[in-house]
Amino acid sequence: PQFEEPKEARRADVTYDDIGGLGNSVDQVREMVELPLRHPELFQRLGIDPPKGVLLHGPPGTGKTLLARAVANETEAHFFHIAGPEIMGSRYGESEERLRQVFHEAAQNAPSIIFIDEIDSIAPKREQVTGEVERRIVAQLLTLMDGLEPRQNIVVIGATNRRDAIDEALRRPGRFDREIVIGVPDQKGRREVLAIHTRGMPLSDDIDLDEIARTTYGFVGADLGALAREAAMDSLRRVLPDINLREGIPPEVIEKLSVCQDDFLSAMKRIQPSALREIMIQA
Ligand code: ATP
Repeated sequence: PQFEEPKEARRADVTYDDIGGLGNSVDQVREMVELPLRHPELFQRLGIDPPKGVLLHGPPGTGKTLLARAVANETEAHFFHIAGPEIMGSRYGESEERLRQVFHEAAQNAPSIIFIDEIDSIAPKREQVTGEVERRIVAQLLTLMDGLEPRQNIVVIGATNRRDAIDEALRRPGRFDREIVIGVPDQKGRREVLAIHTRGMPLSDDIDLDEIARTTYGFVGADLGALAREAAMDSLRRVLPDINLREGIPPEVIEKLSVCQDDFLSAMKRIQPSALREIMIQA
């Protein structure tokens, strides 16, 4: 199917172990999405409808996409990814057609998760909408969600960092009626995320992840990932002068590569938390 991701992408897919610092948000997603997809019989027995739509909201780079992928992967559900801004087709009716197609493919491949990233861009508040296109897309999305039957085993996950910018009609019962906050991690959360992003790295003995977590106030998951990558690159730059790039690199040099605390400190001078970056751009 067109919107399903290539097999290679899915094979390397994320698990709950790849997500740090989100506390009970992961448990909430599991209860609202994984449980009904895996065990619809529990909901049938209780006579209640499982949620059709769940809204993840929080600042950029906090792990909303990561979490949606993880729950799909762990549930062995097919994952359909719709990037809000991208689905806006130019030809008349194209965007609605794409939405219908995704819902159709999701139904045929159930259990399925349809993930709509930046949902505020396709479903902004209707009074704010200037374009006819957006109005039609919201209407189409509402129709498709209203048409979902519990037995179809499809959950739609929407992600946004501007919850208040979303058309209220989408948040009514039977649509995106559950909301989960995906927040900026605290120190303990940052420690967890750092552990995840450094677990494949050769770390030197002087590494103090607690200290790094303490001094990275305002960093979200994506920032911490970038920080770890930059620190690793710095460790590489330290040994580069001793290497002749035209020749093979001796295995002992590769073996000796290790990322130390100073690599993190120098990387920190270049990596700004994204929240702060936004403030600086606005200023
Ligand atoms: P956006 O709103 O910009 O789409 P998002 O909340 O969906 O952001 P992701 O795309 O999930 O954020 O995160 C980007 C990358 O940052 C992830 O692939 C991962 O490497 C890292 N990351 C973000 N959050 C976390 C987290 N909680 N734990 C571990 N890594 C994280």
